[in-house]
Amino acid sequence: MSGGYDARLVVLSVLVATLASYTAFDVVSRVGTRQSWRAYGWLLAGALALGTGVWATHFVAMIAFELPVDLTYDLRTIVSAWVIAVVASAVALNASTRLGQPLRRGLAGGVTLTLGITSMHYTGMHAMHVEPGIEYDAVLVLASVAVSFGASVIAIYSASFVREPRGRGGFLRKIVAALMLAVSISTVHYVGMAASRFAAGSAFAGNAALDSMLLATLVGASTLVFLGIALVVSIQDRRVESETANLVASLSKANAELLHRSRHDALTGLPNRSLLNERIDKRLESWKTQGDGFAVAYIDIDGFKAINDHLGHRAGDSLLNTIAELLIQSLDRQDMVARIGGDEFVVLMDAVDESQTARAVCERILSAITAVEYQGIELAASIGYALCPNDGADTEILIAAADMAMYRAKLAGKNRVQRYREDMGARMSDDFALQGELREAIRGDGLAVYFQPRFHAGERTLMGAEALVRWPHAVRGFISPERFIGIAERCGLITELEVRVLDLVGRQIRQWLDAGLCVPPISVNLSAVRLRDEALSDHVRACLDKYRLNPSCISFEITESLAVREIVQARSAMGMFKHMGIDVALDDFGTGYSSLFYLKQLPIQQIKIDRGFIADLPAFSESRAEIVDWIIRLSHELGLRVVAEGVETESQLRYLQRVGCDEVQGFLLSRPLPADAFRRLMAPADENPV
Ligand code: C2E
Ligand code: CA
Ligand code: CA
Repeated sequence: MSGGYDARLVVLSVLVATLASYTAFDVVSRVGTRQSWRAYGWLLAGALALGTGVWATHFVAMIAFELPVDLTYDLRTIVSAWVIAVVASAVALNASTRLGQPLRRGLAGGVTLTLGITSMHYTGMHAMHVEPGIEYDAVLVLASVAVSFGASVIAIYSASFVREPRGRGGFLRKIVAALMLAVSISTVHYVGMAASRFAAGSAFAGNAALDSMLLATLVGASTLVFLGIALVVSIQDRRVESETANLVASLSKANAELLHRSRHDALTGLPNRSLLNERIDKRLESWKTQGDGFAVAYIDIDGFKAINDHLGHRAGDSLLNTIAELLIQSLDRQDMVARIGGDEFVVLMDAVDESQTARAVCERILSAITAVEYQGIELAASIGYALCPNDGADTEILIAAADMAMYRAKLAGKNRVQRYREDMGARMSDDFALQGELREAIRGDGLAVYFQPRFHAGERTLMGAEALVRWPHAVRGFISPERFIGIAERCGLITELEVRVLDLVGRQIRQWLDAGLCVPPISVNLSAVRLRDEALSDHVRACLDKYRLNPSCISFEITESLAVREIVQARSAMGMFKHMGIDVALDDFGTGYSSLFYLKQLPIQQIKIDRGFIADLPAFSESRAEIVDWIIRLSHELGLRVVAEGVETESQLRYLQRVGCDEVQGFLLSRPLPADAFRRLMAPADENPV
């Protein structure tokens, strides 16, 4: 016995499948990387849409099947079919958002979906009361399952890249994913039907009235479900949009403060080193085009430490403010003075190009300082200066040269002005010596990696660790990474250093895994120069292969200021990592430029709030604590996890818990640890499966 199809109903069934799939992917793209009640809500809504869609498709298609007799269904089986479809959809959609690489997600999601759709179809078939039973053509059934599996994998794979619910790329991918899923659902059904043989003379019971009622119910119910979910989505979108708009408005204020703070000294309000560097960089540009030279002076107050110790910190601070004021007054308007250390100031003299004029300005500054008498103490200073282009045409070199000249002024008896001379290259050659030793350390066995754990803010459980490079120097002891990373960047060793660190980290993770430990993701810092390195992805892949590691074992940290300065490279590097299934965190957040607006543009999964902000918590300044709160809220709206670094006190931790920070890192919970000590924090793999 065979039957034909009612074409209109067939089209309707495929339409229902496509609509359901689209709704599901649209909803699930809002889940992001966060695990919260809202994310689970979206998953549930997606599962309802998809499950109902699969279910409705099946029954609409059954009605489209024009058998010469009527069909009837058993209500309980119809309901169980619906439950199966929804549960399978939930498992599959969950897999599509949670597991690492897109391909793995596709495979895991594809298996569950195909299983779900198939069992749903055959349960549905079972719901018909046919005597004697139906026979199936095994080859065709297997073929339908295979096609369905392939299409589901493609569907979930394409949907895996969609995180931003709006946006054109996302829309196209969702359409492709929805069409593929509709193919998957319809194949199981229609090929499955072609595979079934109803014995001649099968007895069907039922009536046409029930058929059309069932049809109306099915279509009505699923339409209601889709419309309902779409309504919830749009209400939620509007809420999030207005919330985000409010946040962004408040944040632009916060941003202005962030920007100011990141470029000024907190005590005197003078520009800091970063703004100074920026200004000198700009000035160098103008010199290159217009040939107008300038000078840089380095000022160090003589005996300041003694004054500070003698009179106390408060007096020391107020003295520094007095000096700052004085410096501003003794300079021309276009000149700039920055405070770059305790009692160290640097002046950018804009409008000089002859040694005489620069010296004159320095003398003027010196006599202004010596004229100050502070609580019975006479002030003095040592000043060194260097000229551009004569003494250097590079920001770092000019400052270093002025610094050296200042140092000579001190050696020569203090309270004087000294111009830089070439034979003073003392500190530079120090850097130079370190370069050679650093190269040896990288190539030999001289570098080590420490691990600083990150914890869940609320539960204080281990969530991951940051790998921090260490260079135990035979003579100089531990040299700060801030110093030698800088040297490595300047002399082109940074790539080699970072490849080495990555290798050390990979090897360590492999050892821990082999020892049966449950290793959390370890993050590795990446610096400027590497982002431009085409071979970067090859190195990363090679390391993962060499140690047989999953991409989710590691993540990268890229500083915010770098990401903003080199936004194009940063975005493409981040996108590449995302494609490989490796998470990226935006490091030192809040120290870059007008940071918050960039958050939306970068394919990252995590931000690390700079420790400068955490140091102020909780109540040092209302407005600053508020900034942290805002940053966390906005990041959560964007589906990003937030880590606070430099947490040193319980009260900071409590504040961070209160405002919903996800993870914390800092001396309060643990200093960076050598591998052996970190090992003790990890549980055996079987106790705590990932
Ligand atoms: P970072 O990425 O911001 O790393 C965090 C720094 O904060 C580490 O300093 C860590 O020891 C310190 N820290 C952690 N908790 C606290 C705390 O509670 N209070 C305070 N005051 N500090 C805390 P470290 O190890 O000296 O590293 C300094 C910087 O050197 C790092 O800053 C990072 O930018 C760079 N760096 C370290 N290792 C690497 C590396 O392998 N590659 C690259 N490119 N850069 C690295
Ligand atoms: Ca870092
Ligand atoms: Ca950091």
